[in-house]
Amino acid sequence: INTALESVNRPNRVADWPKTGDKNAYISDIYGSNVFTLKKLQTTLPKSVYARFIEQLKGHKPLDRPTADAIAHAVRVWAMDNGATHFTHWFQPQTGTTAEKHDSFLTLKTVIHNGIEEVTAIDAFSGSQLLQSEPDASSFPNGGIRSTFEARGYTIWDTSSPMFIRNGPHGTAVLYVPSVFISYNGDALDEKTILLRSADCLSTAAVRLLNLIGDKETKRVTATLGTEQEFFLIDRGIYNMRPDLKICGRTLLGNVPPKHQQLDDHYFGQIPSRVLATLSETELELYKLGVPVKTRHNEVAPNQFEMAPIFESDSVAVDHNLILMETLHQVAHRHKLKVLYHEKPFKGVNGSGKHCNWSMQTDTGDNLLEPTVKPESNLRFLLFLVATLEAVHKHGGLLRASIASASNEHRLGANEAPPGIVSAFLGEHLTEVLNAIEESREVKNFSQSHLQTVKLGGTVLDLKVNALPQIARDLTDRNRTSPFAFTGNKFEFRAVGSKSSPSFPTVLLNAAVAEAINAVTDALIKQKGSKAEPSQEDVLVVVKQFIKSSKNIRFEGNGYSDEWVVEAEKRGLPNIKSCPVAFRRLIDPVHMKLLTSLGIMTETEIKSRFHIVMEKYAKDIIIEANSLKSMILTGVLPAAYKFRKELLDSLVAQKSIGLATEGSPEKAVLDKVLDITTKLQAASDKLVASIDKINSIEDEIAQAEYANTDIVGIMEQVRTIADS
Ligand code: ADP
Ligand code: MG
Repeated sequence: INTALESVNRPNRVADWPKTGDKNAYISDIYGSNVFTLKKLQTTLPKSVYARFIEQLKGHKPLDRPTADAIAHAVRVWAMDNGATHFTHWFQPQTGTTAEKHDSFLTLKTVIHNGIEEVTAIDAFSGSQLLQSEPDASSFPNGGIRSTFEARGYTIWDTSSPMFIRNGPHGTAVLYVPSVFISYNGDALDEKTILLRSADCLSTAAVRLLNLIGDKETKRVTATLGTEQEFFLIDRGIYNMRPDLKICGRTLLGNVPPKHQQLDDHYFGQIPSRVLATLSETELELYKLGVPVKTRHNEVAPNQFEMAPIFESDSVAVDHNLILMETLHQVAHRHKLKVLYHEKPFKGVNGSGKHCNWSMQTDTGDNLLEPTVKPESNLRFLLFLVATLEAVHKHGGLLRASIASASNEHRLGANEAPPGIVSAFLGEHLTEVLNAIEESREVKNFSQSHLQTVKLGGTVLDLKVNALPQIARDLTDRNRTSPFAFTGNKFEFRAVGSKSSPSFPTVLLNAAVAEAINAVTDALIKQKGSKAEPSQEDVLVVVKQFIKSSKNIRFEGNGYSDEWVVEAEKRGLPNIKSCPVAFRRLIDPVHMKLLTSLGIMTETEIKSRFHIVMEKYAKDIIIEANSLKSMILTGVLPAAYKFRKELLDSLVAQKSIGLATEGSPEKAVLDKVLDITTKLQAASDKLVASIDKINSIEDEIAQAEYANTDIVGIMEQVRTIADS
């Protein structure tokens, strides 16, 4: 309690906002100052070397050693000028977080001094150190790909993501080299390799379709990603008094306080000053790192907040989301706060998610899911829209697997986040547009009734889709209950958990949409027959075909309702309630084929990931069960027995002076306490037995299944009794 109070009373230490001259700097002055941008590289490299690097970035040429050496030298000089003493490859193993191993620039060199050899220190960073490093692969989750005796793995510089400097305590600074992580045999061991592969597939598929409908300009299509990050910030002193929060990131016990979120007074309320200090200091760090944080606000639950950046290309957005999470964690520490990323830290109030806003953008700057840009984009929009719907229709179960985790399960189960059924929401207007096309009729209910004409491939045709461009952002209503909702010019994948990396959900989304775009393209080629380009009727025939085939996935109603569960079952949509069932989707032949045929993951990589997530799930539950066991056995039960003894002592004392104990208030309380304690002792015995049981199971898959079918329920029983 003293620790708690000490920290509550502690004033905030807010970093000074940087100055240029005698006035405060603008955000745009600070932005990216710790990033080794192309501009910085260009000013330090010889012209020809820089040109070679640009060719490599555009995918035209592999990176040669002299170019790598020159870049390594340039980045070292810049990093050292900015205080860096070390460098690290920074990568994303399948642990949900990032990994780094620092090496100093220190190199020893032998020189001849007056005819005698002497060792001197120099600072150096070679091209080969920049390109590649060799961590021990067997110590990271690898799902059996690597055993301890074949440990070799490589991290390789991901040139598509810029290097940056991170400042640490006491003026330390380290140069970060974003990297991918692969095994000796070239299998992906990380989140990023497969993300880059999926981005390439999506681009190839989208460019092919665009070419077919007359766009010969676009050479590359990027998946764009904007991650809204929710989290709790609580006082660290109080946090330190909760073993469950410290070990598991959530409370395993404890009642809802009398006042929580009933009054709806927290959402968008004034940001508490210590929190504001933390958020703005975090933002300052992030601006320096080129992370475009834009929005901050109070969320629904007490002490719950959100930060969101401006969207970027998927791989950079993932890097930046992880940097945001890590930076906030560190800055919160300086303010004696603790950030909780767990999806459901407290029972009875809202949990946290990470809404992944996703769309596709051409290298000419067009958002392919933008219905309103120009009339001639409408057919294009419709094609990409139905492809996305088809993707969710075909691979909804796989998307469900991508968001499953022991912690997100609590949120998905509660009535506050989209359920285990993956459906897509379009809003009233787009739904009407798709229905009208499907039924070959005019669009109803639009204020603007003139017919839209659409230009494609030189011909102008009547599209019979009136007023599509009128579907402005704010005309689409919101549906908080939908896991995958169209929000004006992008889809919002809302079911992603706050704690997990957004990478894997994005990989699977990219993959599924790439496959669906290919299917749309193939259908369009078939439909156009021997014509050079498809006509608009051809496009509409194909759009209609995919509207029909993906129709089951569209749901506009309340996703939390029981009726939807019944309806979804009628439609044959999977309702996946638990992690082990969700994870099995990864090795379902249809979904496996999606990933293997596109070359995004090999069968080995998929099976390895399946093992990793199953094992992680089992371990997460075992850690929680052991934490609960120790809290019950060393805290709750002893307190209950002590209270019982106090009541008994009081009754004995009453009896000793001749008072009647039957009917006394202590007796009534004692009866209750006896009842609850007996039940708690029994439930706790059950918990202990279940932990013994799971420890005796050797196979991780069986452990995960037992954890799900037995331990989760037993823990819930223990909690209910303990809370009472
Ligand atoms: P809301 O809370 O209304 O959903 P926010 O502003 O909090 O809105 O977050 C919306 C997120 O969507 C932001 O990160 C934003 O950059 C992102 N976003 C906007 N347009 C796109 C797009 N075309 N592709 C991907 N993300 C986008
Ligand atoms: Mg949102």
